[in-house]
Amino acid sequence: MPKRFVKVTTPSEFGGSLGAQDYVLHQWLPSTSAAEPEIRHTIDQIFNDLQYIDTGDRGFVAAFLDGITEPLKQLQAAFGLQLVVGTTHGKMKLPSVEWNPEPQQIDWERAYYIVAPDPAFFRAGDGPIHKLGTSCREAFAIATDSKEDLPRHVWTSTDEVIRAFEGSPSWCAKCRVDAPELLLA
Ligand SMILES: [Zn+2]
Repeated sequence: MPKRFVKVTTPSEFGGSLGAQDYVLHQWLPSTSAAEPEIRHTIDQIFNDLQYIDTGDRGFVAAFLDGITEPLKQLQAAFGLQLVVGTTHGKMKLPSVEWNPEPQQIDWERAYYIVAPDPAFFRAGDGPIHKLGTSCREAFAIATDSKEDLPRHVWTSTDEVIRAFEGSPSWCAKCRVDAPELLLA
């Protein structure tokens, strides 16, 4: 699985993202949006039941995917947001138990979902500006960083970035190669 975020635009694409052991949801919402309560409600409709999903239960999965059809559509069409998913692989240490004092390590897959403006440009601290969804590894690392206090800023258009940096933003070179509109910006 490549380390990049892919867009989830339909319930069947969402279905393809199921199967990780757990998931994390990040919401990169424009703080000034008047629609914010509605947006949060829509996101809740998609993610409320995700923790109960048993991917072996096809009826349950089908009902879940039916249920997210409208909110997923609304997120994109009414609010101009995108939902993306990326997975990370690691080891999870199980606590030692009486009958097995050696702590066990098991493979662990985690799905990261991000609801963000479409497109979304972001940076950590004073670093270069990345675009969400490129093959840039640094962008992936920032977006999946679990530190809540990571200073992260999100812009919703190249124009907005250019204005914020008075015409000379420091784009990430890797993201720039992946996103033709940045070559012109
Ligand atoms: Zn980048």
